[in-house]
Amino acid sequence: MNRTIIISNRLPVKISKNNGKYVLQKSEGGLATGLGDVYKSGSMLWVGWPGIDIPKEDQPEIAKKLASLNLVPVFLTQEEINLFYEGFSNEVLWPVFHYLVTYARFEQTYWDSYVSVNEKFATATQNAFNEGDKIWIQDYQLLCLPALLRERLSNTTIGFFQHIPFPSFEIFRLIPWRDKLIEGMLGADLIGFHTYDDVRHFLSTASRLTPVTFSSNIISMDNRQIIVEPFPMGIDYDKFEKLPLQRQVLAEIDNLNSEKRGRVALTIDRLDYSKGILERIRAFELLLQLHPKFIGEISLFMIVVPSRDTVPQYKELKEKIDQLVGNVNAKYRTLDWVPINYFYRSFSIETLSAMYSVADICLVTPMRDGMNLVSKEYVASRRDETGVLILSEMAGASKELNDAIIVNPNNIGDIMNAIVEAMLMPLEEQKRRMQIMRSLVSKFNVKRWVSNFLSRMDDAKLLQHSLK
Ligand code: UDP
Repeated sequence: MNRTIIISNRLPVKISKNNGKYVLQKSEGGLATGLGDVYKSGSMLWVGWPGIDIPKEDQPEIAKKLASLNLVPVFLTQEEINLFYEGFSNEVLWPVFHYLVTYARFEQTYWDSYVSVNEKFATATQNAFNEGDKIWIQDYQLLCLPALLRERLSNTTIGFFQHIPFPSFEIFRLIPWRDKLIEGMLGADLIGFHTYDDVRHFLSTASRLTPVTFSSNIISMDNRQIIVEPFPMGIDYDKFEKLPLQRQVLAEIDNLNSEKRGRVALTIDRLDYSKGILERIRAFELLLQLHPKFIGEISLFMIVVPSRDTVPQYKELKEKIDQLVGNVNAKYRTLDWVPINYFYRSFSIETLSAMYSVADICLVTPMRDGMNLVSKEYVASRRDETGVLILSEMAGASKELNDAIIVNPNNIGDIMNAIVEAMLMPLEEQKRRMQIMRSLVSKFNVKRWVSNFLSRMDDAKLLQHSLK
């Protein structure tokens, strides 16, 4: 049986230790959901890091348990987690690819570990590989892997998808190991990004840093051709559309509605400097300052999901958010109303669904975001077709959701005006826009995204054969 091998930094599983025994729990991320039936049947294998440092003596036991779920572990040491994952992936590639180059730390030890961990992934994949399998590699932690696998499994169909932005050449060129990264990616037959701009940036960067040429969206190198294409990722629309009908969610909606005073603008992000959280709070403060008629009429529900808050830049961001929220609340609150309801924690999907259902406005203003799924989840949750989405033009989702109010996240006045426009928007206009966005998010859902990518991998292989 020909299988699809998915390779990602993390396996779709959570492993915890309970009374000295390991407990495995499948975690249904977007990709796992999109793979749906393929994932559940035996025609798929998933290679990745199990998410925690597991002592050597326990590794065979874990590997056996994972094998029964068609999962293949790549065990990483604590040092590799620090240097490859926290280091190169999150302190070099993440900031540079989000255009925040001053946050990057170009450490040689990070790079060395990145290469050796990518090699570890290549070996694990090679050991699990059967002739005829095709390989789909996920994301920026594994940029060297396509070429490493091409060397070892030369005729195999290899796809690569990057879930975060690909920056313009002038930004990418700053990375000391830039050529090696591009050469690594060029091992694939199909390279996918969320948007056409990412594709353009990649094509131009590849042709400047390596001796390849491109015409339209096809790269020619040696005796191979590589298709580079946008595949805007979708969500599990049906799940978000049906959640508000569940009894528990209905109860939470009632509860939130009974507490509600005026209208609610919702924001949901991981704690990250790419998300534009501070600018958004400032825009809300400006609204209360310049449009005092909205005091008591709109409150911000702000969920920040804890992430990496021991890293200095993240810790600093958290402190700034705490301070700014405190100032705004102290300045504008009344005896029976608080401007910003700030939560620094994560919520269950049921509570998120209730919040999406209750929010009159969803404010999504990242400085840079590969796609942004929160914006699509909000749209899918709006069963009555009301509600206004305010969306940053720097989020990949803005290329599809043209009927949102699109803003420049650096322009605080622009965000403020968008909130005013949302507050004043007639219901018919809200519905007109929401209907268009809902049909789009419904149609281009995550299942379709997966099947598009997999079928384009087959086309990419046919293109190679036609060259021979
Ligand atoms: N999310 C979650 N728990 C929470 C808040 C958010 O699981 O308490 C989810 C949310 O539903 C969304 C994801 O986190 O699917 C965030 O994805 P997005 O693309 O917006 O941003 P990312 O964090 O991937 O940069």
